[in-house]
Amino acid sequence: MDEFMKEALEIVKAQAKVHAMTEEEITTRLRTLAELLRKISTEEEDARDEQERVRHSVREKSILCLECGEHFRVLTKRHLALHGLEPEEYKAKWGLDRDAPLACRALQRERRRRMRELRLWERRGKNGKELPA
Ligand SMILES: [Zn+2]
Repeated sequence: MDEFMKEALEIVKAQAKVHAMTEEEITTRLRTLAELLRKISTEEEDARDEQERVRHSVREKSILCLECGEHFRVLTKRHLALHGLEPEEYKAKWGLDRDAPLACRALQRERRRRMRELRLWERRGKNGKELPA
């Protein structure tokens, strides 16, 4: 007897105390209940797996497209359009932050580094002299 059947048995036992049930009713109810409990448990598990998948979709060298399961360095607007989604819609659909970058970690770092360099460069250009790094 699996855990769902055991759980169902407990419920049906309690019900049988309140309402008189034929053996057939008990059997049917047991089966239906066990099936229902199994379904709920599977759905909960699936939901957990899904959350894990979303949480781990951004990796060091790749980002997972949660729509098709393919890996990319960057999840481009063009790729998402293949799924009929704008980047904003994609993020909303999968519960990602609105400002979550759709790029692998390595590339995010690289971009931040370039932005810093660019800002330094701009400041240097305006003032005409070097700033301490
Ligand atoms: Zn995709």
